[in-house]
Amino acid sequence: MIRTRFAPSPTGYLHIGGVRTALYSWLYAKRFGGEFILRIEDTDLERSTEESVNAILEGMSWLGLDYDQGPIYQTHRFERYKEVIDDLFSKGLAYYCYATPEELEQMREEQKARGEKPRYDGRYRDFDGTPPEGIDPVIRFKNPVDGEVVIDDMVKGQVVINNKELDDLIIARSDGTPTYNLTVVVDDWDMGVTHVIRGDDHLNNTPRQINLYQAMGASIPKFAHIPMVLGEDGARLSKRHGAVSVLQYKEQGFLPEALLNYLVRLGWSHGDQEVFTIDEMINLFDFDSVNGSPSSFDTVKLTWINEQHIKQADAEHLARHLAPFMTQEGCDLTQGPSLAMVADLLRDRAKTLIEMAQSATYFYNDFTEFEAGAAKKHLRGVAEEPLQKLLEKLSSLDTWEAHAIHEQINATAEELEVGMGKVGMPLRVAITGGGQSPAIDATAELIGKERCLTRIQMALD
Ligand code: GLU
Repeated sequence: MIRTRFAPSPTGYLHIGGVRTALYSWLYAKRFGGEFILRIEDTDLERSTEESVNAILEGMSWLGLDYDQGPIYQTHRFERYKEVIDDLFSKGLAYYCYATPEELEQMREEQKARGEKPRYDGRYRDFDGTPPEGIDPVIRFKNPVDGEVVIDDMVKGQVVINNKELDDLIIARSDGTPTYNLTVVVDDWDMGVTHVIRGDDHLNNTPRQINLYQAMGASIPKFAHIPMVLGEDGARLSKRHGAVSVLQYKEQGFLPEALLNYLVRLGWSHGDQEVFTIDEMINLFDFDSVNGSPSSFDTVKLTWINEQHIKQADAEHLARHLAPFMTQEGCDLTQGPSLAMVADLLRDRAKTLIEMAQSATYFYNDFTEFEAGAAKKHLRGVAEEPLQKLLEKLSSLDTWEAHAIHEQINATAEELEVGMGKVGMPLRVAITGGGQSPAIDATAELIGKERCLTRIQMALD
């Protein structure tokens, strides 16, 4: 069975580039009926925070990236890592290194002076003397000295690295805690991960990890290294480009499926299709069509994708995501129509949920003033007659629904021998407070009879 994982380090917010890695891993597992694991790589005790773990969990949940196993915390697995390190020792494949930081610094300076690439020279690899006193040693892995490592990467193609270029990796720090390269291999092995999908900033680690798999007697997974996400200026996406945390996009009014759609396309394509439902992504995603070079984040395009998803989303789903923004606008959703119906009516006019919420307040909140420009144009001095007539007709309407309301607007216009707009626009300003709204009959229906009549009266006063 295919098993993939997302393995973030909880040392900051959940970065948009990380989300794309998570998405590709999730899609790949879903596509082939496999399993997806969430693993929190929190062995760096100094940099890992609970706040960051929470941001990861909240981000995954908002995006709907569900996992079959997890979250699994590496800090709960220290015993297991120790067992593997002991095993490597017993096979003669690990050793203590007592080199001090100063000593290593000097070694690197000398290598540089000789024009060599700085790398650990294996000085403690075959050490069997008395250990120097007062030094807590690190543990290193005996990397093979000959041969080469071949990676058949699903994105990068074949990558070949000569073992001579690799040095003996630190697998446990001097405080005894295991390092990333060790824990990631033990975990991917133990958890039966078949496909390691991650950012190409880890490509350098992969040959070392493959050597570790071999030393442990584990089978080697397939790898897919995904290029970085860059900012619009071509630099690696970072805070100075604006929002990089997934939760910031939530706050800015993007739908989770729109962000996922945008991210799946950022580096992957399927013909010239731009808008994908989650099911389409699952059915179509593959690594053959993942681009090997970096892609640039484009907020304008993300916003366009969001607009398309707002147009096509299920109304209840849209309402669920819109609700917190309505609350932010000060609306009490119990004091008005069903939010799903409101969202359905407004969906063609909003690029973000914030915009949608801002244009939906009159369904829930009464207002005391009309928008000045709209009132000047459509109410003052021109609306008394049509609104008065309409008020009478609407008051006696038994069925408060769009079609019947439409007929009354029509009848009023006919009686006064004016165009529909001369009745519809004053009505719009009267009941919504401004000059912009969806179809006025449907809008009036949702606002409700009592509220509409009160507001028309207010416009007449
Ligand atoms: N914990 C690593 C990171 O956050 C990911 C490791 C991996 O995917 O192998 O970059």
